[in-house]
Amino acid sequence: MTEQVISRSSSQEAVIQKDAKYVMQNYGRQPLVLESGDGCIVRDIDGREYIDCVAGIAVNNVGHSHPKLVEAIKKQAEKLMHVSNLYYTVPQAELAEKLVKITGMSRIFFCNSGTEAVEAAMKLARVKTGKTDFVAVEHAFHGRTMGALSLTYKEMYRTPFKPLVQEEKFVPCNDAEAIANAITDKTAAVIIEPIQGEGGINIHSDAYLKEVRRICDETGTLLIFDEVQTGFGRTGKWFCKEHFGVEPDIMTMAKAMGGGFPMGAIAAREGIAFERGQHAATFGGSPLACAAALASIDIIEKEDLLRHATEMGDYFMSRLKDISLNGVVEVRGRGLMIGVELDRKCADIVDFALKNGVLLNCTSEKVLRIAPPLVITKEQIDSVVAVLEQA
Ligand SMILES: *Cc1c(COP(=O)(O)O)cnc(C)c1O
Repeated sequence: MTEQVISRSSSQEAVIQKDAKYVMQNYGRQPLVLESGDGCIVRDIDGREYIDCVAGIAVNNVGHSHPKLVEAIKKQAEKLMHVSNLYYTVPQAELAEKLVKITGMSRIFFCNSGTEAVEAAMKLARVKTGKTDFVAVEHAFHGRTMGALSLTYKEMYRTPFKPLVQEEKFVPCNDAEAIANAITDKTAAVIIEPIQGEGGINIHSDAYLKEVRRICDETGTLLIFDEVQTGFGRTGKWFCKEHFGVEPDIMTMAKAMGGGFPMGAIAAREGIAFERGQHAATFGGSPLACAAALASIDIIEKEDLLRHATEMGDYFMSRLKDISLNGVVEVRGRGLMIGVELDRKCADIVDFALKNGVLLNCTSEKVLRIAPPLVITKEQIDSVVAVLEQA
C-alpha cells in the first residue's frame, strides 16, 4: 500500500481556519473535516474515505448513519421531539422497560451525556446513604463536570479546577485491599469502570471486582460501575459487568446508547432510586433520544452484533498479536474495545494511519485505542492491520 498524498485541500483548510478563529481551542483535533459515513467508513469533505476505528469514541456502535436508526429518528422528529419530563411519552417508557431487561437492574433515570450520568450516580449515592465521599481508581475517567471530575484521575484535568466535590481519593487498579483501606464511615460509594477506557484499556480482574463487591456489602458502601464506554455491545456483551459476574448497585451509561444521538442514563438496583424532586434533566429521555436508543438496541439485537463484536474482536486481537509491530508491549481488550500498548507515544502511528485511510486514537499517550463500529468486517480489519504493519 502506498501512502496517500495528503495535502490539506483548500476547502478543509478553510474549515480549520474558521474553527481556529471562532471555536474555543480546547480540543487537539486531527486535521480532518468529516462529512459523511456509513457502516465503518467515514468520508472527508474532499470525498476521501477512512476506515473508522474510533467510532466517535466508542459511540457509533451500530455504524454510521444506519438506515434503521436514521429512519427511527426521522419518524420521531416528524411526530414529537421534546416535551420535558412534566409529561409521559411512549418511547421513554418503552426504553426504560428495555433497559431494565438488558441491564438486569430495576429502575432508570435519563440524562444526556456520560458526565451527567456520573453526576446522577453520585447524587443518588449521596442521597441514599447519607454519606458524602467517593473512592475511585487510578487512571479512571468519569467525566469533566465538577462532581465527575473529582473522580477523574488525570491531574491535568483536575488541578486547575479545584476545589472539587471532594479531596482526591484514588486507589491502584486491581488492588482490593487498597479499596478496603480507603473506605471510611463517610464513603457513599466506590466507582469503577470494569474496563478503563480513557485510562488505556485497563481490564480489572474477576477476583478483584468480586472482592470489591464483598467489601462494599460488608461496609454498607454502594458500588457504581461506570459503563459509559463499555456499554451497548462494545465488549461483546450488552454491558461489561456480564464478563465478571458482578452486579453494581448503580451503573452509568451513555456513549453508544443512542447510536450517535446524545443521551445518557443510570440504572439502579431495587430499592435505590431518586424520589420526587431529588434530580431532574429538562432534556433527559426525550422522545427523540429514546427513539434513537430503541432503534440502536434493536439493530444490535437483529444484527446479532454482540456475537459479531466478540468474533471480530478476537480476530482483530489475534491479527494484532501476529504481526510484528515495533515496540508493542501488550495487546489487550474484550470484544471491540482493544488497546495496543506501545513502549513510546503513539501519536506518530495515529498520523501515519490517518494518511493511509484509517482513523485511530491514542489514549493515555502510549496506548492505541481500537474501538470501531461493531459492524466492522474481517476485510476491513485486514486493511487496518496492513496499515499498522507498515507503521
Ligand atoms: C466518556 C466517558 C465519560 C464522560 O462522558 P461524556 O459524555 O463525555 O460526558 C464518563 N465515563 C466514562 C467511562 C467515559 O468513557
